[in-house]
Amino acid sequence: MHRPVKIWTPWQTYTFWYPFEAHAMVHHTIFKSDDSYHLKEEKDKFTIPMAWWNGPVLATLGSIPFVLISLFVGTWIVEITAWLTIFGYYCTYEYIHWCMHLPKNRIVEEIGLFSGRNGHHLLHHRHMDKNFNVVLPIADWLFGTLIRRAPYKFTQVKGPSVPDVQPVTKLVDK
Ligand SMILES: [Zn+2]
Ligand SMILES: [Zn+2]
Repeated sequence: MHRPVKIWTPWQTYTFWYPFEAHAMVHHTIFKSDDSYHLKEEKDKFTIPMAWWNGPVLATLGSIPFVLISLFVGTWIVEITAWLTIFGYYCTYEYIHWCMHLPKNRIVEEIGLFSGRNGHHLLHHRHMDKNFNVVLPIADWLFGTLIRRAPYKFTQVKGPSVPDVQPVTKLVDK
């Protein structure tokens, strides 16, 4: 989603621009880390979620390894459970990402965990190469792209469920 996807075959190299264009070129251009992090124009509302078909496609692709396990153990329960789990995770992502860019004092926004996730995603809108995860930052932690605070000051959006992610200024004794 942050660079075009290249697929090499012996005959030709294919470049898929769709995920990059929909996310990096559209979502990141409209929603930045300043006041524009919160929806400003009604017409941009539908650039918050991904296209409806992305969820089923991603759950199907992500659950491919479980097809092999299902065939091995002789029951499709494994594949179905994996598909539903991935799809559930995807729905959680879509919902909280929606609430992040379109706050409305919902109960979910009152939860401290939401505020933490919101700060994480706000930093992603500031530094596109950091904090790729939205729900659980496991991949960010594994691949070293996790940041908890901004490396330097910036004009950040304010709101009841937006934490301060500015760098910690250390007081130095003179
Ligand atoms: Zn976003
Ligand atoms: Zn992004």
